[in-house]
Amino acid sequence: MVLEPVCCPSCNSTNVVKNGKSDEGKQRYRCRNTDCSRRSFIRDYSYRGYLPEVKQQISDMAVNGSGIRDTARVLKISPTTVIEE
Ligand SMILES: [Zn+2]
Repeated sequence: MVLEPVCCPSCNSTNVVKNGKSDEGKQRYRCRNTDCSRRSFIRDYSYRGYLPEVKQQISDMAVNGSGIRDTARVLKISPTTVIEE
């Protein structure tokens, strides 16, 4: 088993605890950083597509003529996520 640190998508803190399961059966986490406004999140790499900085990268790459699949590959997010955005 490989243990990977779980980071809060809002503050990047690794001070997170497990917080039950989502409706889809995904592991939920709760950020324990008291300065962070985010209460809970799901560890799912597809959520990278929803982070503001990733959105900015996506639009930058689109401007540079990168295809949607190239963009997804470089940013390590699923093409589905990009298209949904
Ligand atoms: Zn946080």
